[in-house]
Amino acid sequence: MTQSRKKFLKALAAGTLGLPLALRLLLGEGQAQKNEYGVTSNERYDWKMVTTWPPGFPILGEGCELLADLIRKMSNGRLNIEVYGGGELVPALESFTAVRQGAAEMGSGVSYYWSGTAPAAQFFSGYPFGLNAQQMNAWLLSGGGMELWRELYADYGLIPFAGGNTGVQMGGWYNREINSVADFKGLKMRMPGLGGRVLEALGGTPVLLAGGEIYTGLERGVIDATEWIGPFHDHTMGFHQIAKYYYYPGWHEPGTNFEFFVNKEAYDQLPPDLQTIVEVATHYINLYTLSSFEAKNAEYLKILSEVKGLSIRGFSPEVIDAARKAAKTTIEDFAAKDAFAGRVYASVSQFKANIAAWGDLTEKIYYNRM
Ligand code: CA
Repeated sequence: MTQSRKKFLKALAAGTLGLPLALRLLLGEGQAQKNEYGVTSNERYDWKMVTTWPPGFPILGEGCELLADLIRKMSNGRLNIEVYGGGELVPALESFTAVRQGAAEMGSGVSYYWSGTAPAAQFFSGYPFGLNAQQMNAWLLSGGGMELWRELYADYGLIPFAGGNTGVQMGGWYNREINSVADFKGLKMRMPGLGGRVLEALGGTPVLLAGGEIYTGLERGVIDATEWIGPFHDHTMGFHQIAKYYYYPGWHEPGTNFEFFVNKEAYDQLPPDLQTIVEVATHYINLYTLSSFEAKNAEYLKILSEVKGLSIRGFSPEVIDAARKAAKTTIEDFAAKDAFAGRVYASVSQFKANIAAWGDLTEKIYYNRM
């Protein structure tokens, strides 16, 4: 029995119950009903978040913990999210399925992991010579990208949210100089996804290695080269101890976008204020992640530039041009094999063409001349 019901009955028994008091107590009893915003004040929700990141992974795993903390505080403890690193509750690459099936309410990853299930998912993480971070946010949040992403994930009972961006990645670590396209011939390189297919078109051999196997693979010559992310995470991996050349830019990943995905049934059960808190908190992590990558990469580029014997160098225009041509064919072939992927590629490539004309007068000029 609630406190107000007890007071009501006590007052009734004592004969001290006037009409206004009775109404007040009855209204007090009614606090469990929804207010004009569809919110009751005392419901508590406990969610699990599965992630594709190793537990506590710098920036990305940390971002998930920060998201859970912000949501807990903003909801006054009404929405509590327990974060699990990859492998702690389910294997990293089963996160998508786990959230679809309701074993967890929320997940964190990168959509190209699911391109085997839904080819169009690739385009919401990025593709070789695609959008940079700023353009990706513009397409997703203001250019129709998010509507397409939500339409795609609705088929899987999920709602996606943008979860941050690496910015332009580095081109990778090589123990062989890349002076011309011919130098890719026979190059064994760890480069996943569409980037790997472009490498193949250039004469190289993409090799699939899990994160934990890359260092020894490069050290023992199983691979001649590897890409990873940028100076901060690459330094953590220690590649500078075993590779001679660190190339830029990462044409294969010009702005890889991360994601949160939420089980739609679980989301629909939340009152509107908690739904809004989830949405707004993911926007903050979207910003936090890109900002952290930019700041940390700048700091660690300086550290790497002081490593003795390491040469940090750019790909030649000839190499970039050849990669761009190979990428165009590779991506068009990929998009042509799936109707939804074709629709998404049409949207993102049209957006890229439009924004490139704007960027040519602004961002590009600024970077080149200021
Ligand atoms: Ca990468």
